Amino acid sequence: MKESIYTIPLMDAMKANDECPFCYIERDLEQHAIRFALGSGASYMEDDVRAQTDAAGFCRHHYKMMFDYGNRLGSALILSTHFKKLNAQLEEQISRFEPAKSSFLNRMKKTAPDTDAPRTSIGAWVADLESHCYVCDHIHANYGRYIDTFFELYVNNAEFRSLFEHGKGFCLHHFSHLAEAAANRLDEKHKKAFYSTLFDRMRSNMKRLEEEVTWFTEKYDYRNKDKDWGNSRDSVQRCMQKDRLSRLQRLQGNLLR
Ligand SMILES: [Zn+2]
Ligand SMILES: [Zn+2]
Repeated sequence: MKESIYTIPLMDAMKANDECPFCYIERDLEQHAIRFALGSGASYMEDDVRAQTDAAGFCRHHYKMMFDYGNRLGSALILSTHFKKLNAQLEEQISRFEPAKSSFLNRMKKTAPDTDAPRTSIGAWVADLESHCYVCDHIHANYGRYIDTFFELYVNNAEFRSLFEHGKGFCLHHFSHLAEAAANRLDEKHKKAFYSTLFDRMRSNMKRLEEEVTWFTEKYDYRNKDKDWGNSRDSVQRCMQKDRLSRLQRLQGNLLR
């Protein structure tokens, strides 16, 4: 098979010994997008990049990363034109707003608004804004190609298969994507071997984490005070990664459907 720009980063991610190679790739894409937006290349001064950040904005998680990145003036320049655009939209939304009709049943239900099914034009407008983020969109745009490349390498590259067979498996979220995607991307012969390896990797590595984090708790027993930590010292963060389902990942799930 011919190499694509996705092959080397995916091979690197498989070799990184991370709890999930796709989370590793996601972090890489995320950092690349933040650096591109705010870094020394000053892409935020380019009209075409600013048009993209003006339109997409950023989610809360990525605003936090931008703030932590430290280029406060760069962030301010991005925000100044983004807010100009937002305020023009806000004016338009308010000027044509009409409250949704309320039914007796809806008046009885005093729960939080259902943001998945907005009933007003303002609800729909903000839901649309929230479905975009300059950084998340960059990740989405590449993620599908990494999934495709994963299966191309699985079929054609023995080194990749071996990394998969000896790897730490995936977080539950990316595990589910692989389980879903394999159905369409592998023939019957490859499917059987693939699922068997995938399930074996998930079972043994989830169990390993359960044991590591349990040993972490037992280390606090004074009788174990002098015993070795083994691999359990950072098991709390690794368990959280394996089990996590971030908002970003939920969006990816929607895009794959
Ligand atoms: Zn993952
Ligand atoms: Zn984001």
